[in-house]
Parts: sequence; structure tokens; C-alpha cells
Amino acid sequence: MMDFPLTLRTLFERAEKFFPKKEIVSRTPSGLFRYTYADYGKRTRQLSSALETLGIQRGDRVATFAWNDHRHLEAYFAIPCMGAVLHTVNIRLSAEHISYIVNHAQDRVMIVDETLLPIIEKVAEQLTSVEAYIIMTDKPELPPTTLHLAYSYEALLQAADATYAYPQDLDENAVAGMCYTSATTGNPKGVTYSHRGIFLHSMNLGLADTTGVSESDVLLPVVPMFHVNAWGMPFAGVWFGSKQVLPGPAPTPQILLQLMEEEKVSLAAGVPTVWLGVLKALEEKTYDLSSLRAVLCGGSAAPRGLIAAYESKGIPFLHAYGMTETAPIALVSRLKSHQTSLSEEERLDIRSKQGLLVPGLEMRVVGENGDVAWNSEDMGEIRLRGPWIASEYYQDDRTADSFVDGWLHTGDVAVVDEEGVVKLVDRTKDLVKSGGEWISSVDLENALMAHPAVFEACVTGIPHEKWDERPLAFVVLKQANSVEKNDLLDHLRSQFAKWWVPDDVVFLEEIPKTSVGKFLKRALREEYREYYR
Ligand code: AMP
Repeated sequence: MMDFPLTLRTLFERAEKFFPKKEIVSRTPSGLFRYTYADYGKRTRQLSSALETLGIQRGDRVATFAWNDHRHLEAYFAIPCMGAVLHTVNIRLSAEHISYIVNHAQDRVMIVDETLLPIIEKVAEQLTSVEAYIIMTDKPELPPTTLHLAYSYEALLQAADATYAYPQDLDENAVAGMCYTSATTGNPKGVTYSHRGIFLHSMNLGLADTTGVSESDVLLPVVPMFHVNAWGMPFAGVWFGSKQVLPGPAPTPQILLQLMEEEKVSLAAGVPTVWLGVLKALEEKTYDLSSLRAVLCGGSAAPRGLIAAYESKGIPFLHAYGMTETAPIALVSRLKSHQTSLSEEERLDIRSKQGLLVPGLEMRVVGENGDVAWNSEDMGEIRLRGPWIASEYYQDDRTADSFVDGWLHTGDVAVVDEEGVVKLVDRTKDLVKSGGEWISSVDLENALMAHPAVFEACVTGIPHEKWDERPLAFVVLKQANSVEKNDLLDHLRSQFAKWWVPDDVVFLEEIPKTSVGKFLKRALREEYREYYR
């Protein structure tokens, strides 16, 4: 058969050719903007042409510093299709980490949202590899800025070639994109994505047994485009000609709900904290969400109670697991056909697990004595390999810690049931070790979040003289003072062995979150280090 290179050009040109009238909707500072894939195609080619004029060549890194909007989507294809590398920079990182990753990636050009300019202006002096900035604004004029060598995105596009031809000879193994993931200690670690990896991952997103993205979908990626390529949704969406709805700067739950209702969104993707917020807003006002075929949720464990709450409103909930190093889709939680006749409770139990390995990847779950038995009890680390799993950290000597003998060691601990369905127990570093026995903080969190009074809950191990570590629960209530600590502990006592139950509950107004909306356990562990002493 033909040795045909799997590059992003194929995805992009399909949308141009077959779906010129399909719509992309983008929320910008000046309101909702709509255009078609035909216009999208021309502007994407113009951006590549403009980048070439600025001296960008194959292999060069171009950074984006942007929310989810149509210009970011143009950069998603303009940069890799010309052979350069799309480096999506997390806009919520500290100044120190932004300058570390931009310099480490040696980004030559940086494309920045106007609304995010103040952040970049503050660190620009440290960004030694950046030769030029392109500012994305709704107007052609360049906004006032202290950045040297700044161009207006719209002015550059106006002067550029809308028929710019993409190279046919790109190597499928060439790097198309990169994203840095935060490390427990030290600087973020860079992960690179090849054209081939993104191509196969996008195809996987289209499978009925994974996320089933198709032409008839209206996609709403709430997960940021600066975090693992918004889980690959923009790539698959363009390829399959799906309508895309991009929620723009800092969307609130109300904005998301309005977009879902008005644009008839069928598949929306985000982390659990997003869906918790949306659920709260849904309790205050009703929206017509009948077009939603699924809410895709990953990045942290989706609490069982959250899944049940959505489904009670008639909104199917799809739980998935992955990481920056896996591009990210690795596990998706769907029932096997013979499980559909189980009771509602049993089905929920399965659906709140992280799920089944998606086709195309290979997995081992390895404990102290090798591969664990599929008995829902023996715990081991998830290890993965496959065509969209990273093989190293970019120019980083921490590669050897996570990539061993051709397998990615995820650092996630799991059990596997007799059907092969994986249930995450914890991150290795988040497991609570009490008196030599392991306690899953995730299980306790899920149980707490299933309590009707609880909005968010986070459990972490705190140093303890006698037991080494004991769990401590942090809880945000839907309504302050609506429940006593002891009620919550009783709720746990009814479900867990005595020694699993946290010694105490701390009520908070908010749980600190990471830059991508996950619970920042490290901060709580640090702040409450002396709590049990
Ligand atoms: P990141 O690379 O920042 O996306 O983080 C990846 C990590 O998030 C994984 O290694 C897991 O620890 C966690 N994670 C992702 N999806 C899930 C999920 N569905 N349930 C529990 N943890 C998850």
C-alpha cells in the first residue's frame, strides 16, 4: 500500500474542500464572530504566508498565548501545515514558568491575544528567543504596547497570500505541536506532538466507541486550547467538518450555557470543575440543552454524583482519562453492550471509572509483583504505549524517570475490573499512606461530592506522628453552614472502613486550583502540614 504521510495538511484541506459553508463561531471581546470554513481556510493560509514573510521556516517554534477563539484555531493549522511547530503556552502560568518554557522551546515568534498583552509585556524582557510578536485584536490597528517588534494580526493577514500552498513533502514524524506540563518539582516539562500522532489521535476521537466526533457535531471545547490541544477537539473538528463554537476569554458557566443553547452544541468538553460550575448555574436558571449528546469530562476524576446529576437532567456524561503526554485520549468510560441492562447504580459505578483503553494504544497496570490481576483490588501504575503517546520530554533529563523500555510510566495508580475497565485510585504522589496502608483520596472525594450539601471536596494526606499520614478533607459547601463536619464524616463512615475516614474536615470558601482547573493538593498539603501535629 501507499506510504502516505499522515500530516495535518490532509485534515485542513478536507475542511476547505468539503465543508466550505460550515460555521465556526467565536466569542471575542467585541462580541460573537461567525465565519465559514471557506473563510477560515483563506485566513489560515494568509497566516502561514505572513509567518513566512517574518522568516519562519520548517522546524521553527511559534508560540501562541491565547484563549479559545477563531484566530487561535487559524494558528492551530497555519503553523504546523507550513512545517513549523505550534507551541501553545499556558496563559495561567507564573511569569517565571512562561519565560522558562518560551526560552526552552526557543520560540521565534509569539502570537498573543490583545487581552493577554499585559502578562507578556511584563515578561518580554526575559523572552530572549522571541524576535517578533503578533497581536490578535478585532481591529487592524496595533493596540498600544511596550513590546518591540509587534505586528497587528489583522494587518499582517490583509497583506498576505490567501492562496499560500502547503508543502507536500512534510515528514509525518516531524513535530507539529508542543505543550509543557507542570512538574511536581522544578520547571515544566515539554511534550512534542508529531503530525502522525495528532492525525491518528484525531481519527481516534471520531470513533463511535470513544468520543464519536462527526460532521453533525457542534463542538464546544471549554478545555483550553493551551492545554493538550483542547484534547484534540479542534483538530478533529476541522477534519470532520464539525461546527465549532469557541468560548473566548474567561467564559463563565452562564456564558457556556447560553452558547450551548443558542448554538445548539452537541458535544462540550471540560474538566470536572467546569461541569460543577455549570451544574450550579443550571440550578439557578433553565436552559434548553436538548441538542447536547454528551458532556465530555476528564483531567481529574469525574465524581459519581456529578455524572448522576447531569444524567438526571437528561444530559449524557462521558468520562475520559488522559494526560499531556498522551495527546491526551487514552481511556474512555462507556458501557459494553452487555452492561446496558445492569441497574442504574451499577451502570453509574462503571461510568464513573476512567474507562476502557481506546483502540490503538497498549496498556499495562504494574504493581509490586508485575502486571496486576483484573480483580478490582490489586493496585498498580498505568503504563501506556502507542502512536500518540510521547516518547520523551523535550530536551529534558527527566525523560528517564517516565519513559522506560518503550513505555510511558504515567504515575497514576489504578485497579482494573474483570472487564478491563480501569479505575484510577490516585496519583502516586497523592495516595495517602496511613499506618502502612494506602487510602485513595479520589474515592473519598467522590463520596463527599455525592453529598447533597457539598459543592467541591478535596482530600489529601497530612503528616501524622503515629500513622505517618492521615487524610484531611477540605470541603466547599453549596450553602455555608448547611451541614456539620460530623454529618459529612458519618456519610463517609457509612461507606468506608473506619481508618479510611479523614480525621477532620476543613470548610473552605474555595479550593485552590491549578492553571487548568484541577485541585491544587500540593498547596493545601503545604498550608496544612502541621495540622495533625
Ligand atoms: P495533565 O497532563 O495536566 O492533563 O494531567 C494529567 C493527569 O490528570 C493524569 O496523569 C491524571 O493524574 C489526571 N487525570 C486525567 N484525567 C483523569 C480522570 N478522568 N480521572 C482522574 N484523573 C485524571
